[in-house]
Amino acid sequence: MEAAKFVVAGGGIAGVTCAQQLASQFPSLDIVLLTAAPMVKTVSNFRQVSKTLEDFEVEEQPSSVLEEKYPNLKVIQSAVTVLHAKQHTLLTENGQVFHYEKLCVCTGARPKLIIQDNPHVLGIRDTDSAQEFQKRLSSAKRIVVVGNGGIALELVYEVEGCEVIWAVKDKAIGNAFIDAGAAQFIIPSLEAEKPKKALPCKRTRYTTDKDTAPNTAGSEGPGSALGPDWHESISLRGAEQVSHRVHVEYECEIEKVYSQQEFMQSPLYTQKTNLGVWPIYAQLSNGKTYGCDFIVSATGVVPNTEPFLHGNNFDLAEDHGLKVDEHMQTSEPDVYAAGDVCTAGWEPSAFWQQMRLWTQARQMGWYAARSMAADILGEAIELDFCFELFSHITKFFNYKVVLLGKFNAQGLGQDHELLVRCTKGLEYVKVVLRGGRMMGAILIGETDLEETFENLILNQMDLSPYGQELLNPNIDIEDYFD
Ligand code: FAD
Repeated sequence: MEAAKFVVAGGGIAGVTCAQQLASQFPSLDIVLLTAAPMVKTVSNFRQVSKTLEDFEVEEQPSSVLEEKYPNLKVIQSAVTVLHAKQHTLLTENGQVFHYEKLCVCTGARPKLIIQDNPHVLGIRDTDSAQEFQKRLSSAKRIVVVGNGGIALELVYEVEGCEVIWAVKDKAIGNAFIDAGAAQFIIPSLEAEKPKKALPCKRTRYTTDKDTAPNTAGSEGPGSALGPDWHESISLRGAEQVSHRVHVEYECEIEKVYSQQEFMQSPLYTQKTNLGVWPIYAQLSNGKTYGCDFIVSATGVVPNTEPFLHGNNFDLAEDHGLKVDEHMQTSEPDVYAAGDVCTAGWEPSAFWQQMRLWTQARQMGWYAARSMAADILGEAIELDFCFELFSHITKFFNYKVVLLGKFNAQGLGQDHELLVRCTKGLEYVKVVLRGGRMMGAILIGETDLEETFENLILNQMDLSPYGQELLNPNIDIEDYFD
């Protein structure tokens, strides 16, 4: 049995950040990072854009890079199969047993597939699944995409040369990130030709080091979740000579899936509906049926908690994540969790919510390490400032998108008002106010308002005297409030 003061499970952004922080804070202690995949994710070129907005690049690297940088950090590629929380031991796939004093679980999440084990239903999560998607797309004429989150939103825009039927359960696209007004603003981009070159945009970049990328054939274990720009290094082209051809089916879900053979024997076929010959057919809850080459299921994720649960006493959240308190500690003593696998169980600030995103994985991994260290050293630690305000920079349909605080009036009920400014094709600015104070904002395009609005949310200044003037394009709001 091997023993280490700190063991971290998971080589994604949360686990690697946690292990790095522990290794640099305790250079004389051994830290063990156990991970299922051959590559680990590291953050580089980190830049604090404003108080809470951050920008960084992510690289997928062999674990030796980490070991060279931190001599006290040992990376072992073997998935955890069992945790005995009482004994403080972990068992891995290759039969090794590890004893820990403090453990941090950072095993991420996997796509929630609408149907398991169907070769024509794909989920996109890691480099392997993205490559499989690309391969299948290259000969596809039509795909059906289900889901309305960030991944679906990026996917339908990026895919070219293939008809996309997009089934969304809401009245508008992208509802997890943007509101119906913003959806109206960006949707014309789906009908237009894609610009040849991406507009410059401040946002997190994901890069894969091609020289060190492993041979993915037969690669072991679940890999890390892809991050922003995951599609930039791969061509998402179908078999046809069209740019965008996206058809959105609103307010519906997939009710039934038929294989080709099942379809031929179904009443739909005998009704001679002339839906063509396809490998798979999706029947939607609005009564329509589409045949396609394959279905992409982008309907959220499920935390990878299974190896840790049996025989232990973890509090699980409704979304099946390991519930953590304000120190990232689970309900099992000495077990912490960070990133997609965990669910924030503390009373959040009025402007923060958990979303399973890259930036939050980094922040949680870093803060979990700080909490583990504080516990060992007997020091007190307060919830980090990054959990004060939700902030996220991304890119949808080639527009820079900044989301701040309760950007969709989450949890505010009717108790809020909205101010909107929109210039077609250029920018969309929405502010959420409660009692005259700013609670959140959506900024699309090069608005340059993020820093000012971040301050206005954090300082809760009474903005009622300004009324609609707050978004008057002729007022330089930055100067106004500085
Ligand atoms: P992961 O990155 O999933 O890492 C989990 C790690 O645990 C992996 O190394 C895995 O090998 C390991 N593991 C799993 N099981 C075990 C086990 N039993 N034992 C040991 N190790 C194990 N976020 C954004 O902010 N912006 C975006 O634009 C964005 N786009 C995305 C696009 C796609 C297609 C996807 C799938 C996700 C996207 N995300 C985006 C989300 C983001 O990638 C995740 O929130 C983030 O990667 C979570 O990091 P993590 O470290 O918690 O988990």
